[in-house]
Amino acid sequence: MNIPIEFGSMVFNDSVMQQRLPHDTFRQLRKILSEGGSLDRSIADIVANAMKDWALEKGATHFTHWFQPMTGVTAEKHDSFIRPIGDKVIMEFSGKELIKGESDASSFPSGGLRATFEARGYTAWDPTSYAFIKDKTLCIPTAFCSYTGEALDKKTPLLRSMELISRQASRIVQLFGKDCQRVTPTVGAEQEYFLIDRKMYEKRPDLIYTGRTLIGCRPSKGQELDDHFFGALKTRVAAFMRELDEELWKLGIPAKTRHNEVAPGQHELAPVFETVNVAVDHNQLTMEIMKKVAARHGMVCLLHEKPFEGVNGSGKHNNWSLITDTGVNLLDPGGNPMDNLQFLLILAAVVRAVDMHQDLLRISVSSAGNDHRLGGYEAPPSIMSMYLGDELEGVLSAIESGAPYDKIEKVYINSGVHSLSRVRRDTTDRNRTSPFAFTGNKFEFRSVGSSFSISDANVVINTIVADQLEQFADQLEEADKGDFRNAVMRILRETVRRHGKIIFNGNNYSPEWPEEAKKRGLLIISSTVEALKKFTDEKNIDLFTRHLIFSESEMHSRREVMLENYSKVINIEALTMLDMVRRNILPAVVKTSGSYASGASVKASVGIPNAADVRMATELSEKAQSILSLSDDLMTAQKRASSGGMSAESAEVYKDEVLPAMHKLRLAVDEAEGMMDESSWPYPSYGQLLFSVL
Ligand code: ADP
Ligand code: MG
Repeated sequence: MNIPIEFGSMVFNDSVMQQRLPHDTFRQLRKILSEGGSLDRSIADIVANAMKDWALEKGATHFTHWFQPMTGVTAEKHDSFIRPIGDKVIMEFSGKELIKGESDASSFPSGGLRATFEARGYTAWDPTSYAFIKDKTLCIPTAFCSYTGEALDKKTPLLRSMELISRQASRIVQLFGKDCQRVTPTVGAEQEYFLIDRKMYEKRPDLIYTGRTLIGCRPSKGQELDDHFFGALKTRVAAFMRELDEELWKLGIPAKTRHNEVAPGQHELAPVFETVNVAVDHNQLTMEIMKKVAARHGMVCLLHEKPFEGVNGSGKHNNWSLITDTGVNLLDPGGNPMDNLQFLLILAAVVRAVDMHQDLLRISVSSAGNDHRLGGYEAPPSIMSMYLGDELEGVLSAIESGAPYDKIEKVYINSGVHSLSRVRRDTTDRNRTSPFAFTGNKFEFRSVGSSFSISDANVVINTIVADQLEQFADQLEEADKGDFRNAVMRILRETVRRHGKIIFNGNNYSPEWPEEAKKRGLLIISSTVEALKKFTDEKNIDLFTRHLIFSESEMHSRREVMLENYSKVINIEALTMLDMVRRNILPAVVKTSGSYASGASVKASVGIPNAADVRMATELSEKAQSILSLSDDLMTAQKRASSGGMSAESAEVYKDEVLPAMHKLRLAVDEAEGMMDESSWPYPSYGQLLFSVL
């Protein structure tokens, strides 16, 4: 593959548009992209026609409005380009079809926003994210809303939040006397995933139906030797990664880094950062293509946050920053942060935002799957805090106390080998345990789950930071010109004093941290259900409605959708587990204990020692008893939870009764597995699943 030529070859991007559109149309389209505004029909017709010709040349037969409903995965309904004329067809695609689609919205979650009899949903082109070709289909990235204009998707609020932060951050930059019309959030999402052998996967209904293992005792080798992290790639994995990169590059997705992760079978892909809405679209596509390419290599890509108990789970590190239309990264501290007031002010806005809206950040990473991962000594805890590093902390505390700041001198690392090139030491080390860490020129939000759309987290980050920037800009615009510097310093000082408690540079995995966090008055929200209840708190409704990110009814609907999803996920897990236990595991354990018992009695009749047989028969029989009674308990809990429908209240029952019942049943099953011969156990073991890819 000739990468520079093939990169973006399946994308209707700027250079294709420049080549294929009349100069005037191209200019008008560019203007709309940079300044906003809507596309008139005559331009849309020209663009649509050029897009169709290009797509046909690339072998496409269909087009689709590609959108992101609240399910968190993408949706598409294909239409072919054909229009019959007599007994022939012509290929057609109009401007109307490009900019607006209408689809039946009744089967997508709306959280009560829309009754099924009012089923109309509309999709509208987001021209800031390029159209592309996937599976011989021209895909047009679109937003999805209801007949009455309420957002039914993950793109609409994101676009709203981008406009908001652009406005407020530009005001700040202008206050520092610089030219700035637009500020764009940039995001790079590092994606973790597992690869397992397809044949093993097919034998595990839990993986097929729920994406995670519901039973399975730990193998004798896990991740304790740390021999997988950055280890050499296995042949099949290397072939997968090569093909994945190529597929992504053709779609213009800048896949950059790939490596093995900590757990056996776990890997990571990181792209180069992009404008946030494009980064969201590209991350959705990346997840989809990972699954497809894995299938071609006889493997399955697991994106669940916790596919295996006792083994690290998967997350997504959301690297976030702000860039101006003149190309300045607003989170770049430069060589001397102490003197970079503009940077410090933006930093202060983020600090205040995270402290004041810990709940919203926690909510944005909430799901039944991610609850298994957060706080598991492998991922950030469910307590939000920030890491700034020694240098910035030093700067902020000097500002607070008014003391002179001792600059950290640049240090070179002495490796003791002269022939190695001189490596300058970064002014901060890494802190891998912090949920929200400053990493040089961006913030890294590490609590996002691996299967999530990164949209939710970025809607929250954009909105809460913009809200602070707005307040700062209001204050500073009122301050006297001559007093500007002092006014900024006052804001910085006040931020450190009132919100410094959110900064924590220590080990977030340590058992002492929750204690300390409690003393500091930080929020500790340990479950999705608890988190989601807070979404519609007055503070949050005020914030989102004031900035027109969500209407109040959109917020209630989103809360409803997320709670329903939580209940549905756990309901499917409980039913799958019961099915596996009752139909296969219990019979296997009963049968094996029976055969030990018959063996024991045969041996007794001919006078052979049979103590081991008796003991195995007894212990397995006892295990079978307890598995049976614990599965009865789970069944009762599941029935109770599901009797209320999948409502917000039922989520509570799933959390408090169904999950603990599943946990107890699992312990008993795993103990039984540890005593059974491999050939009699109905499902592949953890060892077989985790070490199956060679
Ligand atoms: P590490 O996390 O190991 O330090 P990198 O610095 O390469 O790795 O960055 C990790 C991710 O952060 C990549 O996806 C990268 O593109 C992204 N990133 C780097 N700079 C920015 C930025 N200014 N805004 C958003 N993301 C960024
Ligand atoms: Mg990182």
